[in-house]
Amino acid sequence: MGMLLVGGLLFLLGRQLTDRVPVDGLLAGLLLLLFGSLVGSLWYRLGSLCRSLDSYAERLGIPLTEDGATGDRIERLDRRIRRLGDEMLAETYALEYQARHDPLTSLPNRALLMERLTGRLNIQDNTEGSLALLVMDLDRFKEVNDTLGHHIGDRLLQEVGRRLVSVLRRSDTVARLGGDEFAMLLPGADTERTRALCRKVLEVMDAPIKVDSLRLRAGISIGVALAPVHGTDANLLLRRADVAMYHAKRKHKGFAFYKADHDNHSISRLGLSSELREAIEADELALEYQPLVDMGSGRIRCVEALVRWCHPRMGQVPPEEFIPIAEQTGMIRPLSLWVIDRALAQLHAWQRAGIDLRISLNLSVRSLQDRQLPGQIQKLLERHRVEPHCVILEITESAIMSDPLTARRVMRRLSAMGFQLSIDDFGTGYSSLSYLKQLPVDEIKIDRSFVTRMDEDDNDAVIVRATIDLAHNLGLKVVAEGVESRDVWDLLEILGCDCAQGYFIHTPLEAQELVAWIRSEEWRDACWVTPLELVNGT
Ligand code: C2E
Ligand code: MG
Ligand code: MG
Repeated sequence: MGMLLVGGLLFLLGRQLTDRVPVDGLLAGLLLLLFGSLVGSLWYRLGSLCRSLDSYAERLGIPLTEDGATGDRIERLDRRIRRLGDEMLAETYALEYQARHDPLTSLPNRALLMERLTGRLNIQDNTEGSLALLVMDLDRFKEVNDTLGHHIGDRLLQEVGRRLVSVLRRSDTVARLGGDEFAMLLPGADTERTRALCRKVLEVMDAPIKVDSLRLRAGISIGVALAPVHGTDANLLLRRADVAMYHAKRKHKGFAFYKADHDNHSISRLGLSSELREAIEADELALEYQPLVDMGSGRIRCVEALVRWCHPRMGQVPPEEFIPIAEQTGMIRPLSLWVIDRALAQLHAWQRAGIDLRISLNLSVRSLQDRQLPGQIQKLLERHRVEPHCVILEITESAIMSDPLTARRVMRRLSAMGFQLSIDDFGTGYSSLSYLKQLPVDEIKIDRSFVTRMDEDDNDAVIVRATIDLAHNLGLKVVAEGVESRDVWDLLEILGCDCAQGYFIHTPLEAQELVAWIRSEEWRDACWVTPLELVNGT
């Protein structure tokens, strides 16, 4: 437009001058002028293009400084445009990478996993066999974060990611879904190969992970869904692998393949909290008692009260399932008080029948935070005329570590009331014995995950041995949970363990059955158990 205007003006001027100067010279002058204005305008536009390119690059944070401003302006401009293009391409790739990868572990994230899963499901044909999707979740990871800090938690997750990658083939994908959840996609994997891989994952996770001076064990639960058997839709498969994973976690199975009844179970879980309230009120809960044997004398020293809920439709619901629900829904106080009330009544009845026993009761995390609980327990002791030294209160190591200050305050109060205190599931809560020694603790119970296989697994045996030695040096008694075989019993005896509990001695029993077992002659055949001293000589 500007050019036309200049042209028009020059034409008018030319016509004014036509009479006075020769036509040829005028035309040449006109053309010269036209050319000059054209070049000027082009130069101006080039300059403004360079400026807007610079400001564009600056806004994108891409440096475009010219190294040695050689070449003419158009050449430089060309270089700049090409460089800006390259940088923008690289920037786009980086953004795309970020959007599809987890920044902590650099593994593919949920979005990329779902993309690959959908892609695989679309091309899947019968010749390729099945496809396996594994969802994995670390056990007790929250406790690591809460007690040791997020920086340790992050390093643990990075190492878990590395270990998972180490067991995969090139065509497999391992992804971090978020938090402590990982997933694996195994194209062409059948049941057998998937099972073998799950075992491999559990094996690599079994070795302790060293973070600074700490040695952590990242237990993992794996759920598997197979395509096409369990579904051909990516979201459905992921949900089903998730359901299987919860089943594996609940049952301490390591890994589980999806089954339809897992689903029924998870749906019915939702209604459990309201039904639990009714169950407590309607007296539908029950207690079982598991004997603890003194390894030196062979005497049954104590029984642990374990709560049972036989649901009218679902059958037995494991305590590890409904206790967390009770904790989340404010039902834990009535539940704990119900258990303590029944257990103390039973203890009193045994004592009256001349059976000299102590009783061990489990306290949950929430119970520890309940300021009114010690007072309420005191009232129940008085009601059932039970001495506090006959009662051992078991507090899990993880409960103590999740809120150490409250735990210390409540434990001091309970100890001052005369109760014995025991640390349950020791070895799973990332505490140290020297820390626990600052608490008024009388004994520790080594978690069954270290005990049950200690005759086969040298690492477990070393851990149990070191724990027993250290606990004894600190003046604590040691109970081993999960003793399932004679071999483990013998090993524990050699290591000087004080007390044992487990299926080898007996599974949990109803009160009547327990008394019948104690009174039976069964124990005579087993050299490791001698009878209770029955006060009334029964
Ligand atoms: P826990 O206190 O560590 O109880 C021991 C668990 O190990 C019991 O499971 C018992 O049946 C099981 N067990 C005993 N011997 C063996 C063995 O040789 N091998 C194996 N594999 N397992 C064995 P249960 O009854 O399912 O209880 C699970 C957990 O639920 C308990 O672990 C405890 O933390 C919690 N719990 C149970 N009753 C109560 C309760 O009344 N209140 C609270 N707050 N928690 C409870
Ligand atoms: Mg216990
Ligand atoms: Mg335990």
